[in-house]
Amino acid sequence: MSRARDQSTSITLGQMHSLGCRDLLVYCRSVECNHSITMNADHLPDDTLVRPLGDRMVCTKCGRTGAEVRPDYSPHTNRINPDAHELTRRWRERG
Ligand SMILES: [Zn+2]
Repeated sequence: MSRARDQSTSITLGQMHSLGCRDLLVYCRSVECNHSITMNADHLPDDTLVRPLGDRMVCTKCGRTGAEVRPDYSPHTNRINPDAHELTRRWRERG
């Protein structure tokens, strides 16, 4: 049950690109370190699974092997943010 769910959440870079997302967010698995970076994955094949990529990564800050990798949707968020600001401004003007 939960296994099928895991597979569906583990998308490939190709699927990620089709969602308009070009970068990966990489988080160190150490809670004390909490290091995170954004990484461009254009050089990797489209059929590369996103989540297993983290198992091969080494944190540049604490040296720990293994990271959490997920698609970086922040370019979308940044595009949405100006609208949110606009909305806030309108609310302020009204009130
Ligand atoms: Zn680290």
